[in-house]
Amino acid sequence: MRIAVPRERTALEARVALVPESVSKLVKAGAEVVVEHHAGTSASFSDEQYTTAGATIAPDYASCMTGAHLICKVQPPTADETAAIPEGAAVICYLQPAVYPDAVQRLNGRKASALALELVPRITRAQSMDVLSSQATISGYRSVLLGASALGRLMPMLSTAAGTLAPAKCFVLGAGVAGLQAIATARRLGAIVSGFDVRPAAREQILSLGAQVLKVEGADAEGSGGYAREQSAEQAQKTQDAIAAHVAQMDLVITTAAIPGRRAPLLLNEAAIAGMKAGAVIVDLAAESGGNCAGTKAGETVHVNGVTILGPINVPSQASFHASQMLSRNILTLLQHLMTTEGTLNLDATDEITGAMLVCQNGTVRS
Ligand code: NAD
Repeated sequence: MRIAVPRERTALEARVALVPESVSKLVKAGAEVVVEHHAGTSASFSDEQYTTAGATIAPDYASCMTGAHLICKVQPPTADETAAIPEGAAVICYLQPAVYPDAVQRLNGRKASALALELVPRITRAQSMDVLSSQATISGYRSVLLGASALGRLMPMLSTAAGTLAPAKCFVLGAGVAGLQAIATARRLGAIVSGFDVRPAAREQILSLGAQVLKVEGADAEGSGGYAREQSAEQAQKTQDAIAAHVAQMDLVITTAAIPGRRAPLLLNEAAIAGMKAGAVIVDLAAESGGNCAGTKAGETVHVNGVTILGPINVPSQASFHASQMLSRNILTLLQHLMTTEGTLNLDATDEITGAMLVCQNGTVRS
């Protein structure tokens, strides 16, 4: 099987789908791997490292695609990229079919079998293939660094000859994978940290990290599969009021709340932001799915009455080396699940993992 790893061309994408360590394992398993020139450069992996791992370097995108049976990418292929994909090849990348139906239709037009990385089922067996978790870990960590850099104050308490500095107060809204990593990172930087989530299990996890939990009566909203569900309108108002009172004391607020398949819940309204201290910073990690905060602009930094609101997009790409390393291990484990002992791909739509990720196959878009 010939596996192609092209260079990402989308703006702000510095990751690469397979790093040399994974390439080496695939080559040892009998695959032929072709990597486009400079595919790993923005993630600090050189062509030489890929060659040492057993890959061939293709000078451009078209020659990287020639004869490929499987293409491993990060972002969905553009129209031009799709046109060069060999008919009937398999493609593994982020696809977000609900957001980018055109990309799926284009791939289907090439009779490609496309697997969407973000549709990995959140089951124990698929944990090591779970890009949602691996990349959220990076986002949570980076969100605190972004926020700390935008603050005009330091995070830890410092007693110095020039006086004592009070520690920053940091609040993390949504304690899933990203939120818990943000809490741990803010604690390491010395902030006084509190958190909130509508899932009782997440609140336990906040406490286990040594942070405080914002108490909101009747806030529980656990849905199926360990995910959150939407709160009733009345409860959502109560939660917003409690959050507004709490953020008035905060220096740094990180918001990560999400509900699968829905717009991100609005947790910080205009009044809550108006009540915050001048100099406070909000990092809205939900910016790409609508934002948890009124006024968030995806990809921009806005200032409202002295409060800075960051709406970063593609945060994992900012730590492209480790993000690629984790993404690549996720893809490698997925490939080990899909590859037969003869080294071919078995895309069995009845398999729980493959079926959940397969968005089109044999010229048919799967619903
Ligand atoms: P997510 O990105 O969907 O949401 C982030 C957090 O926002 C969640 O903790 C959610 O409860 C919270 N949230 C939603 N609405 C909120 C509101 N109104 N106020 C406050 N918080 C709100 O979540 P995620 O990080 O992807 O993980 C969610 C769940 O999936 C967790 O239970 C996690 O343990 C589980 N999970 C399972 C696996 C696995 O078994 N393979 C892997 C990763 C995560």
